[in-house]
Amino acid sequence: MLDNRPTLPPEIARRRTFAIISHPDAGKTTLTEKFLLFGGAIQMAGQVRAKGEARRTRSDFMKMEQDRGISVSASAMSFEFGPYRFNLVDTPGHSDFSEDTYRTLTAVDAAIMVIDGAKGVESQTRKLFEVCRLRDLPILTFCNKMDRESRDVFEIIDEIQENLAIDVAPASWPIGMGRDFVGAYDLLHDRLEIMDRADRNKVAESIKITGLDDPRLADHIPADLLTKFREEIEMARELLPRFDRQAFLEGHMTPIWFGSAINSFGVKELMDGMGEYGPEPQPQTAKERQLDAGETKVAGFVFKVQANMDPKHRDRVAFVRLASGHFERGMKLLHVRSKKQMAVSNPVLFLAADRELAEEAWAGDIIGIPNHGQLRIGDALTEGEALHFTGIPSFAPELLQGVRAGDPMKAKHLEKALMQFAEEGAAKVFKPMIGSGFIVGVVGALQFEVLASRIEQEYSLPVRFEPSQFSSARWVQGPKTAVEKLVNVNKGHIATDSDGDTVFLTRLQWDIDRVVRDHPDIRLTATKEMM
Ligand code: GDP
Repeated sequence: MLDNRPTLPPEIARRRTFAIISHPDAGKTTLTEKFLLFGGAIQMAGQVRAKGEARRTRSDFMKMEQDRGISVSASAMSFEFGPYRFNLVDTPGHSDFSEDTYRTLTAVDAAIMVIDGAKGVESQTRKLFEVCRLRDLPILTFCNKMDRESRDVFEIIDEIQENLAIDVAPASWPIGMGRDFVGAYDLLHDRLEIMDRADRNKVAESIKITGLDDPRLADHIPADLLTKFREEIEMARELLPRFDRQAFLEGHMTPIWFGSAINSFGVKELMDGMGEYGPEPQPQTAKERQLDAGETKVAGFVFKVQANMDPKHRDRVAFVRLASGHFERGMKLLHVRSKKQMAVSNPVLFLAADRELAEEAWAGDIIGIPNHGQLRIGDALTEGEALHFTGIPSFAPELLQGVRAGDPMKAKHLEKALMQFAEEGAAKVFKPMIGSGFIVGVVGALQFEVLASRIEQEYSLPVRFEPSQFSSARWVQGPKTAVEKLVNVNKGHIATDSDGDTVFLTRLQWDIDRVVRDHPDIRLTATKEMM
Protein backbone atom coordinates (compact mmCIF):
# COMPACT_ATOMS: atom_id res chain seq x y z
CA MET A 1 0.00 0.00 0.00
CA LEU A 2 1.37 3.40 -0.91
CA ASP A 3 1.72 5.30 2.29
CA ASN A 4 1.51 8.95 1.55
CA ARG A 5 0.54 10.03 5.04
CA PRO A 6 2.28 7.77 7.56
CA THR A 7 0.72 9.68 10.44
CA LEU A 8 -2.81 8.63 9.54
CA PRO A 9 -4.17 5.65 11.52
CA PRO A 10 -4.01 2.61 9.18
CA GLU A 11 -7.79 2.14 9.31
CA ILE A 12 -8.23 5.64 7.92
CA ALA A 13 -5.30 5.52 5.49
CA ARG A 14 -6.77 2.47 3.74
CA ARG A 15 -10.08 4.16 2.98
CA ARG A 16 -10.96 5.44 -0.47
CA THR A 17 -14.14 7.46 -0.75
CA PHE A 18 -15.18 8.29 -4.30
CA ALA A 19 -17.98 8.80 -6.77
CA ILE A 20 -18.44 7.71 -10.37
CA ILE A 21 -19.41 10.44 -12.81
CA SER A 22 -20.56 9.89 -16.37
CA HIS A 23 -22.98 10.83 -19.09
CA PRO A 24 -26.07 8.58 -19.04
CA ASP A 25 -25.46 5.28 -20.81
CA ALA A 26 -21.67 5.38 -20.65
CA GLY A 27 -21.72 2.39 -18.29
CA LYS A 28 -21.76 3.71 -14.73
CA THR A 29 -24.26 1.14 -13.47
CA THR A 30 -22.42 -1.71 -15.12
CA LEU A 31 -19.11 -0.54 -13.70
CA THR A 32 -20.59 -0.09 -10.21
CA GLU A 33 -21.92 -3.61 -10.38
CA LYS A 34 -18.51 -5.00 -11.30
CA PHE A 35 -16.91 -3.05 -8.48
CA LEU A 36 -19.32 -4.66 -6.04
CA LEU A 37 -18.71 -8.04 -7.60
CA PHE A 38 -14.92 -7.81 -7.26
CA GLY A 39 -15.33 -6.22 -3.87
CA GLY A 40 -17.22 -9.32 -2.76
CA ALA A 41 -20.29 -7.25 -1.91
CA ILE A 42 -22.47 -9.20 -4.36
CA GLN A 43 -22.09 -12.76 -5.63
CA MET A 44 -23.40 -12.35 -9.13
CA ALA A 45 -23.60 -9.60 -11.68
CA GLY A 46 -27.19 -8.46 -12.10
CA GLN A 47 -27.95 -8.18 -8.40
CA VAL A 48 -27.72 -4.43 -8.22
CA ARG A 49 -30.36 -4.04 -10.81
CA ALA A 50 -32.45 -6.88 -9.44
CA LYS A 51 -32.45 -5.41 -5.97
CA GLY A 52 -33.04 -1.99 -7.41
CA GLU A 53 -36.13 -3.24 -9.16
CA ALA A 54 -37.48 -4.94 -6.09
CA ARG A 55 -37.12 -1.68 -4.27
CA ARG A 56 -38.64 0.30 -7.08
CA THR A 57 -41.84 -1.71 -7.09
CA ARG A 58 -42.52 -0.26 -3.66
CA SER A 59 -43.53 3.02 -5.12
CA ASP A 60 -44.52 4.43 -8.43
CA PHE A 61 -42.13 7.25 -7.91
CA MET A 62 -39.35 4.79 -8.20
CA LYS A 63 -41.11 3.37 -11.21
CA MET A 64 -40.89 6.76 -12.79
CA GLU A 65 -37.20 6.78 -12.13
CA GLN A 66 -36.95 3.42 -13.83
CA ASP A 67 -39.03 4.46 -16.84
CA ARG A 68 -36.95 7.48 -17.42
CA GLY A 69 -33.74 5.66 -16.80
CA ILE A 70 -32.54 8.16 -14.27
CA SER A 71 -31.34 7.62 -10.81
CA VAL A 72 -33.02 10.06 -8.48
CA SER A 73 -31.69 8.82 -5.19
CA ALA A 74 -28.06 8.66 -4.27
CA SER A 75 -26.72 6.08 -1.92
CA ALA A 76 -23.39 4.99 -0.57
CA MET A 77 -21.89 1.55 -0.80
CA SER A 78 -19.00 0.21 1.24
CA PHE A 79 -16.90 -2.84 0.43
CA GLU A 80 -13.45 -4.29 0.90
CA PHE A 81 -11.01 -4.53 -1.96
CA GLY A 82 -7.69 -6.15 -1.10
CA PRO A 83 -6.15 -4.08 1.67
CA TYR A 84 -8.51 -1.17 0.96
CA ARG A 85 -11.91 -0.15 2.11
CA PHE A 86 -13.90 1.47 -0.70
CA ASN A 87 -16.78 3.83 -0.11
CA LEU A 88 -18.55 4.40 -3.39
CA VAL A 89 -21.02 7.25 -3.28
CA ASP A 90 -23.57 7.09 -6.05
CA THR A 91 -24.32 10.34 -7.84
CA PRO A 92 -27.69 10.94 -9.43
CA GLY A 93 -27.20 10.73 -13.16
CA HIS A 94 -29.63 13.18 -14.66
CA SER A 95 -28.64 16.73 -15.47
CA ASP A 96 -31.71 18.05 -13.67
CA PHE A 97 -30.22 17.06 -10.37
CA SER A 98 -27.06 19.04 -10.47
CA GLU A 99 -27.39 20.51 -7.00
CA ASP A 100 -27.78 17.12 -5.40
CA THR A 101 -24.86 15.87 -7.40
CA TYR A 102 -22.80 18.84 -6.39
CA ARG A 103 -23.40 18.14 -2.73
CA THR A 104 -22.65 14.46 -3.18
CA LEU A 105 -19.29 15.43 -4.60
CA THR A 106 -18.53 17.41 -1.43
CA ALA A 107 -18.50 14.10 0.42
CA VAL A 108 -15.88 12.30 -1.67
CA ASP A 109 -12.12 12.53 -2.06
CA ALA A 110 -11.89 11.38 -5.68
CA ALA A 111 -13.99 10.60 -8.73
CA ILE A 112 -13.96 8.07 -11.53
CA MET A 113 -15.00 9.53 -14.86
CA VAL A 114 -16.50 6.95 -17.20
CA ILE A 115 -16.62 7.77 -20.88
CA ASP A 116 -17.93 5.77 -23.79
CA GLY A 117 -15.07 4.97 -26.17
CA ALA A 118 -17.26 5.68 -29.17
CA LYS A 119 -18.63 8.96 -27.87
CA GLY A 120 -15.83 10.57 -25.91
CA VAL A 121 -16.54 13.56 -23.67
CA GLU A 122 -20.30 14.21 -23.58
CA SER A 123 -22.27 17.14 -22.17
CA GLN A 124 -22.97 15.64 -18.78
CA THR A 125 -19.39 14.40 -18.44
CA ARG A 126 -18.22 17.95 -18.90
CA LYS A 127 -20.65 19.45 -16.37
CA LEU A 128 -19.76 16.92 -13.70
CA PHE A 129 -16.10 17.30 -14.45
CA GLU A 130 -16.38 21.04 -13.86
CA VAL A 131 -17.88 20.39 -10.45
CA CYS A 132 -14.97 18.09 -9.59
CA ARG A 133 -12.56 20.73 -10.78
CA LEU A 134 -14.07 23.34 -8.45
CA ARG A 135 -12.89 21.14 -5.64
CA ASP A 136 -9.66 19.96 -7.33
CA LEU A 137 -10.81 16.38 -6.92
CA PRO A 138 -8.40 13.78 -8.29
CA ILE A 139 -10.02 11.99 -11.22
CA LEU A 140 -9.38 8.54 -12.65
CA THR A 141 -10.74 7.98 -16.15
CA PHE A 142 -12.22 4.77 -17.48
CA CYS A 143 -12.76 4.59 -21.22
CA ASN A 144 -15.50 2.00 -21.56
CA LYS A 145 -16.98 -0.20 -24.30
CA MET A 146 -13.68 -0.93 -26.01
CA ASP A 147 -15.25 -4.22 -27.13
CA ARG A 148 -17.23 -2.14 -29.62
CA GLU A 149 -16.05 0.07 -32.44
CA SER A 150 -14.53 3.04 -30.66
CA ARG A 151 -12.70 6.14 -31.61
CA ASP A 152 -8.96 6.24 -32.10
CA VAL A 153 -7.17 6.21 -28.75
CA PHE A 154 -5.10 9.31 -29.43
CA GLU A 155 -8.22 11.11 -30.51
CA ILE A 156 -10.01 10.21 -27.28
CA ILE A 157 -7.08 11.32 -25.15
CA ASP A 158 -6.74 14.52 -27.15
CA GLU A 159 -10.39 15.29 -26.71
CA ILE A 160 -10.16 14.92 -22.94
CA GLN A 161 -7.05 17.09 -22.79
CA GLU A 162 -8.53 19.78 -25.02
CA ASN A 163 -12.07 19.74 -23.75
CA LEU A 164 -11.42 19.43 -20.06
CA ALA A 165 -8.01 21.07 -19.88
CA ILE A 166 -6.39 18.27 -17.92
CA ASP A 167 -3.29 16.21 -18.69
CA VAL A 168 -4.06 12.62 -19.55
CA ALA A 169 -1.58 9.86 -18.77
CA PRO A 170 -2.37 6.40 -20.14
CA ALA A 171 -2.37 3.80 -17.37
CA SER A 172 -3.17 1.08 -19.88
CA TRP A 173 -3.15 0.87 -23.64
CA PRO A 174 -5.81 -1.05 -25.57
CA ILE A 175 -4.83 -3.65 -28.11
CA GLY A 176 -7.25 -3.73 -31.00
CA MET A 177 -10.82 -2.57 -30.70
CA GLY A 178 -14.33 -3.73 -31.44
CA ARG A 179 -14.35 -7.29 -32.64
CA ASP A 180 -10.55 -7.35 -32.64
CA PHE A 181 -10.20 -6.13 -29.09
CA VAL A 182 -7.73 -8.49 -27.42
CA GLY A 183 -7.03 -6.71 -24.19
CA ALA A 184 -4.73 -4.05 -22.86
CA TYR A 185 -1.19 -3.48 -21.81
CA ASP A 186 -0.86 -2.28 -18.23
CA LEU A 187 1.72 0.49 -18.53
CA LEU A 188 2.05 0.99 -14.80
CA HIS A 189 2.92 -2.64 -14.03
CA ASP A 190 4.16 -4.00 -17.39
CA ARG A 191 1.51 -6.66 -17.65
CA LEU A 192 -0.57 -7.90 -20.49
CA GLU A 193 -4.26 -8.32 -19.73
CA ILE A 194 -6.20 -10.60 -22.03
CA MET A 195 -9.96 -10.31 -22.17
CA ASP A 196 -12.03 -13.45 -21.81
CA ARG A 197 -14.98 -13.20 -24.16
CA ALA A 198 -16.45 -16.47 -22.95
CA ASP A 199 -17.10 -15.38 -19.37
CA ARG A 200 -18.18 -11.82 -18.77
CA ASN A 201 -17.64 -11.96 -15.05
CA LYS A 202 -14.17 -13.44 -15.17
CA VAL A 203 -11.22 -11.25 -14.36
CA ALA A 204 -8.80 -11.00 -17.26
CA GLU A 205 -5.81 -13.28 -17.50
CA SER A 206 -2.74 -11.31 -16.51
CA ILE A 207 0.67 -12.03 -18.01
CA LYS A 208 3.83 -10.48 -16.63
CA ILE A 209 5.83 -8.91 -19.44
CA THR A 210 9.41 -7.71 -19.24
CA GLY A 211 8.99 -4.96 -21.82
CA LEU A 212 7.77 -4.28 -25.30
CA ASP A 213 10.35 -6.65 -26.80
CA ASP A 214 9.19 -9.59 -24.70
CA PRO A 215 8.50 -12.49 -27.13
CA ARG A 216 5.52 -13.51 -25.01
CA LEU A 217 3.59 -10.61 -26.52
CA ALA A 218 3.54 -12.43 -29.84
CA ASP A 219 2.02 -15.51 -28.19
CA HIS A 220 -1.08 -13.54 -27.29
CA ILE A 221 -1.42 -10.77 -29.85
CA PRO A 222 -1.97 -11.37 -33.58
CA ALA A 223 1.00 -10.08 -35.63
CA ASP A 224 -0.78 -7.15 -37.32
CA LEU A 225 -2.20 -5.88 -34.04
CA LEU A 226 1.16 -6.26 -32.34
CA THR A 227 2.92 -4.08 -34.92
CA LYS A 228 0.28 -1.41 -34.60
CA PHE A 229 0.34 -1.66 -30.81
CA ARG A 230 4.15 -1.24 -30.69
CA GLU A 231 3.94 1.82 -32.93
CA GLU A 232 1.22 3.36 -30.82
CA ILE A 233 3.02 2.78 -27.57
CA GLU A 234 6.15 4.38 -28.96
CA MET A 235 4.15 7.38 -30.07
CA ALA A 236 2.33 7.54 -26.76
CA ARG A 237 5.59 7.54 -24.83
CA GLU A 238 6.82 10.39 -26.98
CA LEU A 239 3.68 12.48 -26.98
CA LEU A 240 1.87 11.85 -23.74
CA PRO A 241 2.91 12.61 -20.18
CA ARG A 242 3.89 9.84 -17.78
CA PHE A 243 1.67 9.29 -14.78
CA ASP A 244 2.64 11.61 -11.95
CA ARG A 245 0.85 10.88 -8.70
CA GLN A 246 1.29 14.35 -7.29
CA ALA A 247 -0.19 16.01 -10.39
CA PHE A 248 -3.06 13.51 -10.21
CA LEU A 249 -3.73 14.21 -6.52
CA GLU A 250 -3.77 17.93 -7.23
CA GLY A 251 -6.33 17.41 -9.99
CA HIS A 252 -4.10 18.41 -12.92
CA MET A 253 -3.67 14.96 -14.42
CA THR A 254 -5.94 12.01 -14.95
CA PRO A 255 -4.73 8.46 -15.54
CA ILE A 256 -6.85 6.65 -18.13
CA TRP A 257 -7.67 2.94 -18.33
CA PHE A 258 -9.26 1.32 -21.35
CA GLY A 259 -11.69 -1.50 -20.83
CA SER A 260 -15.10 -2.99 -21.09
CA ALA A 261 -17.20 -2.94 -17.96
CA ILE A 262 -19.69 -5.46 -19.24
CA ASN A 263 -16.87 -7.92 -19.92
CA SER A 264 -15.28 -7.15 -16.54
CA PHE A 265 -12.27 -6.02 -18.48
CA GLY A 266 -9.97 -3.35 -17.08
CA VAL A 267 -12.17 -2.97 -14.00
CA LYS A 268 -9.81 -4.63 -11.56
CA GLU A 269 -6.89 -2.54 -12.81
CA LEU A 270 -8.98 0.59 -12.33
CA MET A 271 -9.82 -0.51 -8.78
CA ASP A 272 -6.15 -1.27 -8.13
CA GLY A 273 -5.41 2.23 -9.40
CA MET A 274 -7.91 3.75 -7.00
CA GLY A 275 -6.39 1.79 -4.14
CA GLU A 276 -2.73 2.38 -4.95
CA TYR A 277 -2.84 5.97 -6.12
CA GLY A 278 -6.17 7.32 -4.89
CA PRO A 279 -6.25 9.80 -2.01
CA GLU A 280 -6.78 8.82 1.62
CA PRO A 281 -9.53 10.72 3.46
CA GLN A 282 -8.67 14.37 2.93
CA PRO A 283 -8.76 17.26 5.40
CA GLN A 284 -12.12 19.04 5.54
CA THR A 285 -12.61 22.75 5.88
CA ALA A 286 -14.76 24.29 8.57
CA LYS A 287 -15.32 27.99 9.14
CA GLU A 288 -13.31 27.74 12.34
CA ARG A 289 -10.36 25.66 11.11
CA GLN A 290 -9.19 22.77 8.97
CA LEU A 291 -9.92 19.34 10.24
CA ASP A 292 -7.55 16.45 9.61
CA ALA A 293 -8.95 12.96 9.09
CA GLY A 294 -6.48 11.58 11.61
CA GLU A 295 -7.73 13.65 14.54
CA THR A 296 -8.95 11.42 17.34
CA LYS A 297 -12.26 13.18 17.94
CA VAL A 298 -15.18 12.31 15.71
CA ALA A 299 -16.68 14.95 13.45
CA GLY A 300 -18.81 14.73 10.34
CA PHE A 301 -21.27 16.60 8.19
CA VAL A 302 -24.60 15.88 6.53
CA PHE A 303 -24.39 16.11 2.74
CA LYS A 304 -27.66 14.48 1.87
CA VAL A 305 -31.01 13.78 3.44
CA GLN A 306 -33.35 11.23 2.03
CA ALA A 307 -36.91 11.06 3.22
CA ASN A 308 -39.31 8.17 3.02
CA MET A 309 -36.76 5.56 2.04
CA ASP A 310 -39.19 3.20 3.60
CA PRO A 311 -42.73 4.46 2.94
CA LYS A 312 -44.07 2.43 5.88
CA HIS A 313 -42.08 4.51 8.33
CA ARG A 314 -41.81 8.21 7.83
CA ASP A 315 -38.14 7.99 8.48
CA ARG A 316 -35.41 10.10 7.03
CA VAL A 317 -31.87 9.12 6.63
CA ALA A 318 -29.18 11.74 6.88
CA PHE A 319 -26.02 10.75 5.02
CA VAL A 320 -23.03 11.81 7.04
CA ARG A 321 -19.48 11.94 5.80
CA LEU A 322 -17.15 11.30 8.71
CA ALA A 323 -14.44 13.91 8.53
CA SER A 324 -12.31 12.66 11.40
CA GLY A 325 -11.91 10.09 14.13
CA HIS A 326 -13.24 6.67 14.98
CA PHE A 327 -16.97 6.50 15.42
CA GLU A 328 -18.63 3.82 17.54
CA ARG A 329 -22.30 3.01 17.66
CA GLY A 330 -24.13 4.61 20.56
CA MET A 331 -21.81 7.59 20.69
CA LYS A 332 -23.29 10.87 21.84
CA LEU A 333 -22.50 13.63 19.41
CA LEU A 334 -23.16 17.33 19.51
CA HIS A 335 -25.58 18.50 16.85
CA VAL A 336 -23.91 21.84 16.33
CA ARG A 337 -26.86 23.75 14.83
CA SER A 338 -29.28 22.98 17.68
CA LYS A 339 -26.52 22.73 20.32
CA LYS A 340 -28.15 19.49 21.46
CA GLN A 341 -26.57 16.13 22.22
CA MET A 342 -27.68 13.30 19.99
CA ALA A 343 -27.19 9.63 20.78
CA VAL A 344 -26.42 7.92 17.50
CA SER A 345 -27.72 4.47 18.27
CA ASN A 346 -28.91 3.20 14.88
CA PRO A 347 -26.37 4.33 12.33
CA VAL A 348 -26.41 2.38 9.10
CA LEU A 349 -23.72 1.41 6.67
CA PHE A 350 -24.74 0.70 3.13
CA LEU A 351 -23.40 -2.55 1.83
CA ALA A 352 -24.35 -3.03 -1.81
CA ALA A 353 -28.11 -2.66 -1.85
CA ASP A 354 -28.54 -3.62 1.80
CA ARG A 355 -28.34 -1.59 4.94
CA GLU A 356 -26.53 -2.86 7.96
CA LEU A 357 -26.13 -1.49 11.46
CA ALA A 358 -22.78 0.24 11.70
CA GLU A 359 -20.96 -0.83 14.86
CA GLU A 360 -18.08 1.44 13.97
CA ALA A 361 -16.88 3.72 11.24
CA TRP A 362 -13.78 5.74 10.48
CA ALA A 363 -13.00 9.06 8.88
CA GLY A 364 -13.82 8.78 5.20
CA ASP A 365 -16.83 6.51 5.75
CA ILE A 366 -20.39 7.47 4.97
CA ILE A 367 -22.96 6.51 7.57
CA GLY A 368 -26.70 6.93 7.44
CA ILE A 369 -28.41 8.28 10.53
CA PRO A 370 -32.15 7.70 10.72
CA ASN A 371 -33.89 10.68 12.30
CA HIS A 372 -37.17 12.53 12.40
CA GLY A 373 -36.08 15.70 10.68
CA GLN A 374 -33.53 17.12 13.11
CA LEU A 375 -30.66 16.55 10.72
CA ARG A 376 -30.41 18.83 7.72
CA ILE A 377 -27.99 19.25 4.86
CA GLY A 378 -24.88 21.06 6.00
CA ASP A 379 -25.30 20.15 9.69
CA ALA A 380 -22.23 19.20 11.69
CA LEU A 381 -21.96 16.45 14.31
CA THR A 382 -18.94 16.59 16.60
CA GLU A 383 -17.67 15.43 19.99
CA GLY A 384 -18.27 18.91 21.35
CA GLU A 385 -16.48 21.42 19.17
CA ALA A 386 -18.68 23.98 17.43
CA LEU A 387 -17.59 23.38 13.83
CA HIS A 388 -19.33 24.67 10.72
CA PHE A 389 -18.22 22.87 7.57
CA THR A 390 -18.04 25.06 4.53
CA GLY A 391 -18.41 24.39 0.85
CA ILE A 392 -21.87 22.82 0.93
CA PRO A 393 -23.82 25.29 -1.13
CA SER A 394 -27.44 25.81 -1.86
CA PHE A 395 -28.10 27.28 -5.30
CA ALA A 396 -30.82 29.71 -6.23
CA PRO A 397 -33.37 27.78 -8.28
CA GLU A 398 -33.62 28.58 -11.95
CA LEU A 399 -37.30 27.72 -12.33
CA LEU A 400 -40.14 28.84 -10.10
CA GLN A 401 -43.75 27.69 -9.95
CA GLY A 402 -46.64 28.24 -7.62
CA VAL A 403 -48.15 25.19 -5.99
CA ARG A 404 -51.58 24.48 -4.60
CA ALA A 405 -53.22 21.45 -3.02
CA GLY A 406 -55.91 19.94 -5.26
CA ASP A 407 -58.14 20.10 -2.18
CA PRO A 408 -57.94 23.56 -0.51
CA MET A 409 -58.66 21.95 2.87
CA LYS A 410 -55.33 20.21 2.64
CA ALA A 411 -53.17 23.33 2.54
CA LYS A 412 -51.51 22.57 5.92
CA HIS A 413 -50.76 19.07 4.73
CA LEU A 414 -49.13 20.45 1.65
CA GLU A 415 -47.00 22.79 3.70
CA LYS A 416 -45.67 19.87 5.69
CA ALA A 417 -44.84 17.86 2.59
CA LEU A 418 -43.12 20.83 0.97
CA MET A 419 -41.03 21.58 4.04
CA GLN A 420 -39.91 18.00 4.08
CA PHE A 421 -38.73 18.14 0.48
CA ALA A 422 -37.05 21.46 1.15
CA GLU A 423 -35.09 19.92 4.01
CA GLU A 424 -34.17 17.00 1.84
CA GLY A 425 -32.77 19.51 -0.64
CA ALA A 426 -35.09 18.29 -3.39
CA ALA A 427 -36.55 21.77 -3.96
CA LYS A 428 -36.55 25.29 -2.60
CA VAL A 429 -39.79 26.32 -0.97
CA PHE A 430 -40.65 29.98 -0.52
CA LYS A 431 -43.54 31.40 1.44
CA PRO A 432 -44.40 34.82 0.01
CA MET A 433 -45.10 37.62 2.50
CA ILE A 434 -48.26 38.56 0.66
CA GLY A 435 -50.90 36.11 -0.42
CA SER A 436 -51.36 32.43 0.29
CA GLY A 437 -49.73 29.39 -1.20
CA PHE A 438 -46.13 28.56 -1.85
CA ILE A 439 -43.60 29.04 -4.55
CA VAL A 440 -41.40 26.11 -5.35
CA GLY A 441 -38.06 26.50 -7.05
CA VAL A 442 -36.00 23.85 -8.78
CA VAL A 443 -32.95 23.67 -10.98
CA GLY A 444 -34.38 21.40 -13.69
CA ALA A 445 -37.96 21.21 -15.00
CA LEU A 446 -38.20 17.47 -14.46
CA GLN A 447 -38.03 18.06 -10.72
CA PHE A 448 -41.54 19.56 -10.72
CA GLU A 449 -42.87 16.28 -12.08
CA VAL A 450 -40.85 14.25 -9.61
CA LEU A 451 -42.12 16.41 -6.75
CA ALA A 452 -45.75 16.25 -7.82
CA SER A 453 -45.46 12.51 -8.12
CA ARG A 454 -43.78 12.14 -4.72
CA ILE A 455 -46.27 14.37 -2.94
CA GLU A 456 -49.07 12.31 -4.40
CA GLN A 457 -47.41 8.99 -3.57
CA GLU A 458 -45.97 9.73 -0.18
CA TYR A 459 -48.64 12.07 1.18
CA SER A 460 -51.70 10.99 -0.86
CA LEU A 461 -52.07 14.59 -1.84
CA PRO A 462 -52.85 15.61 -5.42
CA VAL A 463 -51.21 18.94 -6.21
CA ARG A 464 -51.18 21.44 -9.03
CA PHE A 465 -48.15 23.38 -10.14
CA GLU A 466 -48.93 26.63 -11.91
CA PRO A 467 -46.93 29.42 -13.52
CA SER A 468 -45.54 31.96 -11.10
CA GLN A 469 -45.16 35.66 -11.68
CA PHE A 470 -41.55 35.29 -10.53
CA SER A 471 -38.65 33.65 -12.26
CA SER A 472 -35.65 34.37 -10.04
CA ALA A 473 -34.90 34.14 -6.34
CA ARG A 474 -32.03 35.77 -4.50
CA TRP A 475 -31.09 35.50 -0.86
CA VAL A 476 -31.03 38.84 0.91
CA GLN A 477 -27.96 39.52 3.00
CA GLY A 478 -26.99 42.57 4.99
CA PRO A 479 -27.38 44.32 8.34
CA LYS A 480 -30.74 43.76 10.03
CA THR A 481 -31.97 47.35 9.66
CA ALA A 482 -31.07 47.44 5.97
CA VAL A 483 -32.94 44.16 5.40
CA GLU A 484 -36.00 45.52 7.22
CA LYS A 485 -35.92 48.64 5.11
CA LEU A 486 -35.75 46.62 1.91
CA VAL A 487 -38.57 44.35 3.06
CA ASN A 488 -40.84 47.30 3.95
CA VAL A 489 -40.72 48.85 0.53
CA ASN A 490 -40.80 45.61 -1.49
CA LYS A 491 -43.38 43.45 0.30
CA GLY A 492 -44.70 42.02 -2.94
CA HIS A 493 -41.26 40.61 -3.76
CA ILE A 494 -40.36 39.19 -0.39
CA ALA A 495 -40.62 35.61 0.81
CA THR A 496 -38.95 33.38 3.38
CA ASP A 497 -37.27 30.09 2.61
CA SER A 498 -37.62 26.91 4.63
CA ASP A 499 -34.87 28.04 7.03
CA GLY A 500 -36.66 31.34 7.62
CA ASP A 501 -34.12 33.33 5.60
CA THR A 502 -35.31 36.30 3.60
CA VAL A 503 -35.54 35.94 -0.16
CA PHE A 504 -36.16 38.49 -2.90
CA LEU A 505 -38.32 37.18 -5.75
CA THR A 506 -38.48 38.82 -9.12
CA ARG A 507 -39.03 38.42 -12.82
CA LEU A 508 -36.63 41.07 -14.00
CA GLN A 509 -32.92 41.56 -13.74
CA TRP A 510 -33.86 45.24 -13.64
CA ASP A 511 -35.42 44.71 -10.17
CA ILE A 512 -32.23 43.15 -8.89
CA ASP A 513 -30.16 46.02 -10.27
CA ARG A 514 -32.56 48.49 -8.67
CA VAL A 515 -32.20 46.88 -5.24
CA VAL A 516 -28.44 46.87 -5.54
CA ARG A 517 -28.51 50.56 -6.48
CA ASP A 518 -31.04 51.73 -3.89
CA HIS A 519 -29.81 49.60 -0.99
CA PRO A 520 -26.03 49.77 -0.90
CA ASP A 521 -25.80 47.68 2.30
CA ILE A 522 -27.76 44.79 0.82
CA ARG A 523 -26.31 41.89 -1.12
CA LEU A 524 -28.54 39.66 -3.25
CA THR A 525 -26.89 36.27 -3.66
CA ALA A 526 -27.57 33.27 -5.85
CA THR A 527 -25.98 30.81 -3.44
CA LYS A 528 -26.20 30.26 0.25
CA GLU A 529 -23.84 28.19 2.40
CA MET A 530 -25.70 25.50 4.28
CA MET A 531 -24.34 25.39 7.78
P1 GDP B 1 -25.28 4.15 -17.15
O1 GDP B 1 -26.47 4.84 -17.73
O2 GDP B 1 -24.05 4.99 -17.30
O3 GDP B 1 -25.47 3.63 -15.78
O4 GDP B 1 -24.99 2.92 -18.14
P2 GDP B 1 -25.29 1.36 -17.99
O5 GDP B 1 -24.29 0.70 -17.11
O6 GDP B 1 -26.72 1.14 -17.69
O7 GDP B 1 -24.94 0.91 -19.46
C1 GDP B 1 -25.60 1.42 -20.60
C2 GDP B 1 -25.65 0.36 -21.68
O8 GDP B 1 -24.33 0.08 -22.14
C3 GDP B 1 -26.22 -0.95 -21.19
O9 GDP B 1 -27.00 -1.50 -22.22
C4 GDP B 1 -24.99 -1.80 -20.93
O10 GDP B 1 -25.24 -3.17 -21.07
C5 GDP B 1 -24.05 -1.30 -22.00
N1 GDP B 1 -22.63 -1.48 -21.63
C6 GDP B 1 -22.04 -1.19 -20.46
N2 GDP B 1 -20.72 -1.49 -20.50
C7 GDP B 1 -20.48 -1.98 -21.74
C8 GDP B 1 -19.31 -2.47 -22.39
O11 GDP B 1 -18.22 -2.54 -21.85
N3 GDP B 1 -19.48 -2.87 -23.68
C9 GDP B 1 -20.67 -2.83 -24.33
N4 GDP B 1 -20.71 -3.24 -25.58
N5 GDP B 1 -21.79 -2.38 -23.74
C10 GDP B 1 -21.71 -1.97 -22.46
